Amino acid sequence: IWYIIGPLWGLGFHINNYTQFKASSERVLTLLNEPIHVKNETGAITINPHTAKGDVYFHHVTFNYPDKKPALTDITINAPAGTVIGLLGPTGAGKSTIIQLLMRAYDVKQGSITVDGINIKQLDVHSLRSIISPVFQETFLFSATIRDNIAYGIAGVTQEQIENAARLAKAHDFIMELPLGYDTVVGERGMGLSGGQKQRIAIARAFIKNPKILILDDATSAVDMETEHEIQAGFKELMAGRTTFIIAHRISSLRFADEIIVLDEGNIVQRGTHEQLVQQPGPYRETYQIQYADFPGELELAAGNRE
Ligand code: ADP
Repeated sequence: IWYIIGPLWGLGFHINNYTQFKASSERVLTLLNEPIHVKNETGAITINPHTAKGDVYFHHVTFNYPDKKPALTDITINAPAGTVIGLLGPTGAGKSTIIQLLMRAYDVKQGSITVDGINIKQLDVHSLRSIISPVFQETFLFSATIRDNIAYGIAGVTQEQIENAARLAKAHDFIMELPLGYDTVVGERGMGLSGGQKQRIAIARAFIKNPKILILDDATSAVDMETEHEIQAGFKELMAGRTTFIIAHRISSLRFADEIIVLDEGNIVQRGTHEQLVQQPGPYRETYQIQYADFPGELELAAGNRE
């Protein structure tokens, strides 16, 4: 039961220079910690994690939190199995709300969300969440062994599966260099790991769970360029064959998305591929220009047909 991940207070969310793209991790993490508000319908459908495909479809979704103006207005997103959707936008734009609705923290009243063609309101909520894994840059580790941190919440995981997952996540080598290998205690009362190492533990966890749908919150923490590069490489491998939603704060991690959705105040203000969006005047290109200001060569490419 991965959504009970213990107390998360005190996690510092580092935000890079692009302050308007504040990390949404906090809210999504809060969700993971929350009891489930929604109720299963009678006769709720259980989705089989082995045969699920991970087709996700938001159909004209409008949503407001109780007594608030709409957090999302008329959102349509088509994410066939295996596609990558990037979500970009300033704080409060609605990015985490999209994720919360997909995980059924709340039920949608206007419009619908389907997974593999089934309205998620009809799905058993535990079974829906069992095919979704979130991975955050700020990873929470329990005061427990590396082994338990990788396998957590999933019953009957073998050492072999743990090692395989760690290899895929490029974590095996550094784990073997720790004093007690997989038995090394980490977390608050254990050995400290670097940001990049923690991230790789989180990626290993996700490999073990083998979700059909991945949520990547790409909040940039204070990691060096090399680590950032490694993390992105790990993400790439994890994303293969899974429907992925990336909440991104940096253009560099969305460039390869099949579709980038730019949100503002709950509305989709732009959508398309990176190549399409850098050609259009608008918030995407402005963000790109700000973020790539240090790389004039790249910028010229983007500004090629600036009006
Ligand atoms: P983002 O992830 O892009 O920063 P959010 O989806 O968190 O945006 O927020 C969209 C809007 O919904 C904002 O106006 C925000 O204040 C509001 N909101 C988000 N979560 C809640 C909540 N749990 N209760 C009430 N309002 C919320």
